[in-house]
Amino acid sequence: MNRELMKDFLREQFPNPERKGCPDEDVLQALAEDRIAPNDPALLHVGSCSECYTEYLHLRREIEEERLKNHSNVLPFPDRSKNQTS
Ligand SMILES: [Zn+2]
Repeated sequence: MNRELMKDFLREQFPNPERKGCPDEDVLQALAEDRIAPNDPALLHVGSCSECYTEYLHLRREIEEERLKNHSNVLPFPDRSKNQTS
């Protein structure tokens, strides 16, 4: 299964229109910024809640765009960011 199919799967598989048990937006923001503990229950929640997962993807994209913008101003070699992901 490729990544795009996986995203669609997660988005549609766990509808939660009432947002039951959903973490605050602050938590999703922290998650998107990798500022959250690896054992935080919000991680599990986002993997099983389409609403949160969609929101998380949205935040994540915004952060990445912001990061790319900042990097292009400071670093002439955007490839350096790849070394920081491990
Ligand atoms: Zn949720």
